[in-house]
Amino acid sequence: MLKELFLADSYLKEARATVISVNDGKYVTLDKTIFYAKGGGQPHDTGQIIRQDEVFNVVYVGKFSGEISHEVDHVGLQNGDVVCCILNWERRYKLMRSHTAAHVLAALLNKGTGALITGNQLEENHVRFDFSLEKFDRTILEEYLVRANELFEDDIEVKWYELPREEALKIPGVVKMAEAFPPDLPVLRIVEIVGLDKQADGGTHVRNLREIGKVELVKTENKGKNNRRIYFKLS
Ligand SMILES: [Zn+2]
Repeated sequence: MLKELFLADSYLKEARATVISVNDGKYVTLDKTIFYAKGGGQPHDTGQIIRQDEVFNVVYVGKFSGEISHEVDHVGLQNGDVVCCILNWERRYKLMRSHTAAHVLAALLNKGTGALITGNQLEENHVRFDFSLEKFDRTILEEYLVRANELFEDDIEVKWYELPREEALKIPGVVKMAEAFPPDLPVLRIVEIVGLDKQADGGTHVRNLREIGKVELVKTENKGKNNRRIYFKLS
């Protein structure tokens, strides 16, 4: 059974679950979860775990020894509790939109310049992006953002599926982001932006580029000879 429900359906905002362990009163594991654990450049989700009328706010979600642990704001949850989980959807949906936008920009930069993405950190209100490129020119970057924004007006589907590791690693450019270095698993999850990009990735994404809206450049920085950093955000 797939316990990480967001991997199949990133639009799931609510789900029932059962508490299977509680550590130090506040660290809770569930039989299945809609909460994304911090990792791969994507921040953790927040939201609520509700037992009858009692609300436990989820303040942090991490993955430890393969298990997703939900940190709640107060003690009280017990093994066997049946709970209702509700996502802070506004935050998650922004992260989905900016995560997919980051893949589009990475694909365009990689195709156009050969640049490799060396770091990628999504935040709720901006995306930080590091890449290796000797020639650095803000106007060129602006042009890439214009091209990305043009793509976001098109009806372009995004899909995700699993492939055997060997088959996945044959896809050109399937690993162009440091965040996405494939884990040592027999099967890899691929996020495909149809006609543009295939990337090994465990994050949550929108189903269509039109959901992104528009992005804009916030600032650019030089981080050394071949290291460029840009910040962009959803408009
Ligand atoms: Zn990604």
